[in-house]
Amino acid sequence: MLPEIEKLLVLQDRDRTIRTLRQELQVAPLERRESEEKLAATNAQLDAAKQKAKEIEVERKKLENEAQAKRDSIAKFQTQKFQTRKNEEFQALNNEITRYENDIRALEDRELGFMDDAEKMKAAVSVAEQQAKAVKGQVERQLADIAAKIDSVSAQLKELETERANLATGLDEDLLDTFTRLFANKGEAVVPLEHETCMGCHMKVTTQTVVKVKGQREIVHCEQCGRILYRGE
Ligand SMILES: [Zn+2]
Repeated sequence: MLPEIEKLLVLQDRDRTIRTLRQELQVAPLERRESEEKLAATNAQLDAAKQKAKEIEVERKKLENEAQAKRDSIAKFQTQKFQTRKNEEFQALNNEITRYENDIRALEDRELGFMDDAEKMKAAVSVAEQQAKAVKGQVERQLADIAAKIDSVSAQLKELETERANLATGLDEDLLDTFTRLFANKGEAVVPLEHETCMGCHMKVTTQTVVKVKGQREIVHCEQCGRILYRGE
């Protein structure tokens, strides 16, 4: 095998790893955001449940106050009833008292409904709290893992980039340019020729190209895709 081809294959191997590591670094912030969004969504659910519970309590309290106001009024009517001497007024106050008592019963029934809702909501808040706690723990672990991965990948990448630079210094500048361009555009720059077929584009090459590749005396490109060919099986 041509020494240049050997060097290019090592370089290509490192470049593949560098590419994979760079992709991992690109994905990491997305993974982080996904985890953070999951946590935010769970917290929002908890907040919504708490808010709903609060609203129910406000409504219940309103009915309670309304009922209490009616009770206060009844107490006043009772006093007035025993102060009046007019039978008509006495009767009118009695009617008012009955009306208010009916109102209070209706208010209390509605209040009971809100109390039922409050019980259900309390359970829902408790479930949401447990969920939020579990997700928080899970997300914290995920974020720690992601941070550790970023550190480790960055360190590996730095090492490989240094190694890559050293490998590249031993190569002809034009050849290195061609290699780098092919690798960036086609994914692979140096591919084997197998059964007279370029393993990059899977097209048959000319006999002349086959002969040149087998001769192993010069850098040969696939005439279809331009990739650098070396003798395979
Ligand atoms: Zn090809």
